[in-house]
Amino acid sequence: MRIDVLTIFPDYLAPLRLSLVGKAHEAGILDLRVHDLREWTTDRHRTVDDTPFGGGAGMVMRPDVWGAALDDVLTPDAHLLLPTPSGEVFAQPTAHALAHETHLVIACGRYEGIDARVAEHYRAAGVRVSELSLGDYVLNGGEVAALVVVEAVARLLPGVVGNPESLVEESHGEAGLLEYPVFTKPPSWRGLDVPDVLLSGHHARIARWRRDEALRRTAARRPDMLSALDPGVLDARDRDV
Ligand code: SAM
Repeated sequence: MRIDVLTIFPDYLAPLRLSLVGKAHEAGILDLRVHDLREWTTDRHRTVDDTPFGGGAGMVMRPDVWGAALDDVLTPDAHLLLPTPSGEVFAQPTAHALAHETHLVIACGRYEGIDARVAEHYRAAGVRVSELSLGDYVLNGGEVAALVVVEAVARLLPGVVGNPESLVEESHGEAGLLEYPVFTKPPSWRGLDVPDVLLSGHHARIARWRRDEALRRTAARRPDMLSALDPGVLDARDRDV
């Protein structure tokens, strides 16, 4: 998969050279390219923004600079992602869908955002454009959103996470539940003991305990997820939890 990130702060994306995403890049699983939007400016001051039509506070990113950059970077298969607090909230199903793409282009806004004609123009030109929000709060720029989207998508690519089984039972996975609590050595720490069942070696009982805990945790923390579950995926014992 190829991912291009366009930003006025390329250094913000430096963490993508670390850890599993960095290794995926080195291994050729992920072709990650970070671009400085100012490379596409034409004036002495390398200007990317201007005052908003209609007045008001702040500055807006110019469509001509974004257009020049995106014309160069978009390929016929590219899916253009525009981080914005007014977009659809980015969640695991979107990460899974994006992991099947061959080319993502992430355009990081700053100031009051990118001139609205950029999204409109590329949609009209037949480019798939998704406006994605990390959540109901406002950040200073789209770089943090780019970090989140790249990491969430890249870890789903084959070969990125060492043991693909660790992707199966995660929170927000196919089961539609939060993950059960996890423990490691030592078995007793500061007066707190690991649940006996996890030390029993009894695989069926461990699986049942984990399922019960996942259901309890989801009910307590994310009742919305529990009510969204298809009742058909619940077994008789689930209903007792
Ligand atoms: N004026 C905009 C509004 O109220 O919707 C907010 C602009 S914000 C200060 C600047 C940039 O940060 C946005 O263009 C976007 O790229 C990014 N951004 C801010 N909050 C975000 C969020 N919750 N999710 C994704 N991107 C966000």
